[in-house]
Order: sequence, then C-alpha cells, then structure tokens
Amino acid sequence: MAITEVEKIWMNGKLVKWADAKVHVLTHALHYGTGVFEGIRAYETDKGTAVFRLTDHIKRLFNSAKIYKMDIPYSMDEIVEAVKETIKANNIKSCYIRPIIYRGYGEMGLYPMNVPVDVSIAVWPWGAYLGDEGIKHGVKTCISSFQRISPNALPPAAKATGQYINSILAKLEAEDSGYDEAILLDHQGFVSEGPGENIFLVKDGIIYTPPTSASVLGGITRDSVMDIACDMDYPVIEENIVRSDLYVADEAFFTGTAAEVVPIREVDGRVIGDPGEVTRAIQNKFFSIINGEEEEYIDWLEFV
Ligand code: PMP
Repeated sequence: MAITEVEKIWMNGKLVKWADAKVHVLTHALHYGTGVFEGIRAYETDKGTAVFRLTDHIKRLFNSAKIYKMDIPYSMDEIVEAVKETIKANNIKSCYIRPIIYRGYGEMGLYPMNVPVDVSIAVWPWGAYLGDEGIKHGVKTCISSFQRISPNALPPAAKATGQYINSILAKLEAEDSGYDEAILLDHQGFVSEGPGENIFLVKDGIIYTPPTSASVLGGITRDSVMDIACDMDYPVIEENIVRSDLYVADEAFFTGTAAEVVPIREVDGRVIGDPGEVTRAIQNKFFSIINGEEEEYIDWLEFV
C-alpha cells in the first residue's frame, strides 16, 4: 500500500522534514533486522483525534525492545507524548502511526550491544489494510505452507522487524496463489495467526481464538475484541485450533490494527459464512468504539 507523505517525522527527539528522515546504508537494522516497532491507529472523533490504546502499544514496544536487549533512550511517557506531538505537527485527523526503535550506524557484526539505538515515529493517512471490500464482504484465505516462527527460534511476542520476513513469505505465497491473505500454522500444526493479524472463529455461538502459546502475537485488537465479545455475552475460549476447525466454522475473522476487524469468507476453498451475525456485531461495535461513540470504552481512546 502506497505511503502518503506528510510534513514531519520524529527522529531521536526532533521533528525533521519528511524528506530528511534518512538513515545510513550501513544501519545495523537494515542488515540484520534488529529493529522493533509498533503499528497504531489514530481516529477522528467528535471530541478530536484519539489514538487507540496508545499506552498499551508503547508498553508492547518496550517489551519487544527488552526481548532484544535494546535500551531505549526515552521513557514510555516520553514516547507516548512524542506520538501525540508528531500527529499534531502534521495536523492530521486520522492516521496510521509507526514508531520504530532500531540499531543504527556504528558497528557491523552480530553482537549488537555497541550499536546505537535510534528511535523514530512516522504517521501518515492509511486506509483499510485488507481493503474496504474485505471489511464488508470478507477475505479469501489459504493455509500457508510456511510455518509461523516458533518461540525458540524467534519470539512471537516481539514485534521485531526481522521477524516479518516470515510473514512476507506467507503473504507472497497467498497473493501469488490468488488469495487475499494467509493463515499460518505453528510448529505443532495448530492454527496460529495471519501474517499481521490475529484470528478468531465462531462455532455454535462460541468464539474461539488460539492461545498466545500457539506462536501468536498478543494483539491489542485481539485483546479488545475479547473484551467486547464478553461484554456482549458471547463466550470466548482461548484454545488450540486445527485447520479443519476453520473449514467447518460458522464464521471466522481477523483482527489487527492495520486490518481492524475483517471477516474471513473462505479458507482453502471452503466457504465459511457470508460475514456472519457475530462477526458483524463485533465489527460494528469495534467501529463505533474507535469513532468515540461508546462511552463505556472511552478509556481506550487517548486524545491528542
Ligand atoms: N499478529 C501479528 C504478527 C501482527 O503483526 C499484528 C499487528 N501488530 C497482529 C497480530 C495484530 O496485533 P494488533 O491488534 O496489536 O495490531
């Protein structure tokens, strides 16, 4: 998806012009994938621009950095403020937000501790990741032949740049075979998640999602949807799922910051639901929450 340029990018404490936000070609993260990042969204509401669960995203960012032993030269509060400052500086009402902490320029080689840690925050307007059509009518998926990274190879709980090469292989294969999105299995053969989305299925009125032990990133949308579902009196069970559970599900959907809540129309050529009733209800609730229309969930909105 194309990037729409805005005015400024926050780099190591300063707002610089979009065109000047550059790094050296010998940046460590470019060679070895030693960066951690977040994907966050801000939405326009009647009360102004609000970032969805900003503090929770920044906590996850700090946890990703901890896993890779990266010392962030800012506090969590400073990064939260810097995100708001970047949105304000660009005078933007709704946007995607991409903070990244990465090993910069200084040394090469696999021991990273002497390489400086740089921080940058970019924002830009971004539409529905799996398309407006996907949000309305659902997406066509396949089980990937690529396995999701496993905990003792690369920690699925970290959002590290290098780890996304695994997601990219799955995405390429799915698109090349005529599907909209892939579903990856974990190293034990259980359903894990999409390349950048968590997965849910609905069977007989009960909602199921794989546990984080199935090499799942603990998604913030996943967590929100689990809360929303409970508040709507749908039972939610975290348990291991196999691919045929998806084939015979009544409904299934993806969740994620970029994708939001997207119905899954088909898995490996098995049609599963014409965006079902439960998916629709949760999707509608989620959209009214992010638009600031649900007082009960107002704490999830952090105003700029
Ligand atoms: N899984 C993966 C691998 C992801 O990259 C993402 C996007 N961050 C998600 C799940 C969904 O997480 P969230 O709802 O926090 O965006």
